[in-house]
Amino acid sequence: MPRIHCSVCGIASDQLAAPTVSPQFAPDLDTRPGEPLRSTLPAWMQLCPNCGYAAPDLAYAAELVPNWVRTSDYRSLTDAFERHAWLLEQLGYLADAGWITLQAAWNHEDGNDLDAARRCRRKAIRLFQASKAAGQDFLDTPAEELALAVDILRRIGEFEAAAETIRIALQEEELPEMLEAVLRFQTGLVQRRDTGRHTLDEVPRGPAGEKPVRLT
Ligand SMILES: [Zn+2]
Repeated sequence: MPRIHCSVCGIASDQLAAPTVSPQFAPDLDTRPGEPLRSTLPAWMQLCPNCGYAAPDLAYAAELVPNWVRTSDYRSLTDAFERHAWLLEQLGYLADAGWITLQAAWNHEDGNDLDAARRCRRKAIRLFQASKAAGQDFLDTPAEELALAVDILRRIGEFEAAAETIRIALQEEELPEMLEAVLRFQTGLVQRRDTGRHTLDEVPRGPAGEKPVRLT
């Protein structure tokens, strides 16, 4: 267990070592990696037991962070992922704040706090929308971004918004075959009002060896 000096208060504390494993199983449809990486989630975020600063690496803090960790808004958050996401939001890193808020949802789910998980997914959607409005992408392509949004919306039971997002995503030009298959799979889940966790290897693929015919 490495001993890390907090860059905000200077106190040293024992923190979980960063994971070195790679996922061996398929990710969830919201990109949460499969095992064995999946269950290393608590090691993705460090929390200083003295000043409450939360970051993937306590040894680094942006300039204004020491002021922000003293605020009541920051201190009202108890989850380390939510705390770090709040700091990223203040810094204007809205896409990163969205991702860490999604990780906060996973963390709450692991702790069986499903209300908090739902609240974080709702907040992640808002942050991703704000990031796009600010010109920040949160994934490589709009189709991938829409597919992630679909899963977040479905998991919080926003089925109409999920269905509408699927419709928009299916109109994307150059939609990769795999992503289209994911969106079709999501359509079925939305129709069944399924808010559960599903993985990429559940998505039906075409018959092995069959290649799509492109006439253009
Ligand atoms: Zn500290």
